[in-house]
Amino acid sequence: MGLQDISSFNPECFQDLAYEIDSMTLVGQVYRPPSEAESILIQITEGCSHNKCTYCGMYRGKQFRVKSLDEIEQELLDHARFGPLQRRLFLCDGDALVLSSRRLLPVLVAIRRTLPWIERVGIYGDTRGVLNKTVDQLIQLKEAGLGIVYHGVESGDDETLVSIQKGGTRDECIEAATRLKEAGIMHSVIVLLGVGGVKRSNEHAVNTASLLTEMDPPYVGATRAKSKKIQKKKTALPKEQKENMTRQSVEHSKHGA
Ligand code: SF4
Repeated sequence: MGLQDISSFNPECFQDLAYEIDSMTLVGQVYRPPSEAESILIQITEGCSHNKCTYCGMYRGKQFRVKSLDEIEQELLDHARFGPLQRRLFLCDGDALVLSSRRLLPVLVAIRRTLPWIERVGIYGDTRGVLNKTVDQLIQLKEAGLGIVYHGVESGDDETLVSIQKGGTRDECIEAATRLKEAGIMHSVIVLLGVGGVKRSNEHAVNTASLLTEMDPPYVGATRAKSKKIQKKKTALPKEQKENMTRQSVEHSKHGA
């Protein structure tokens, strides 16, 4: 690179290239939490291994697949070429934490080896993904770089959890929070407002509030459930209000597992 080149160097070009790598390697529609907007996205799984929650259509058209370590290492090397542009990295897709610690540890080791400037690795995980690991295994993941788990508990009401086919119980959510806390991994919990429907509205609200108190996570996010009734009502709203609701729906749909 000559002097002239150095004087016209624009780091934003490299940032654009880094984003281009993301778009080249990511398969299908990819979701990440809003707080991971600046993160490198690495898809260690494609789709969701559960894919049954009644309110979630994010990965319906995607066949669940676990990427090989070779594929992941190649993607990390592609990002490494651009140097320390991003300080955070997020592991997708929908319930990537479902992978065993035997599979996750080499991924975290490869991230640290290839991108040593990464300060925090985040991941989407549900209750199953936490509980298929012991506290000791979670500590190992933490020591290898796992910093935060984004966990959609949706409701603290067991009857509602069954009706939305979430596949976990209130007690299991509390156990997952306890294990993450013991391992020192940050926990961001997402609940779904209105998911109990009119019938379970009161139980959903009261039991979700008490669940959050018991779990006591460092972060809580609330997303609004979309019902057919709400959708119908939206058509009767003034244009400005309708646009606002649509924007909220798009943002909310990015919260995920
Ligand atoms: S909400 Fe999460 S666990 Fe449920 S189907 Fe969607 S991605 Fe999978």
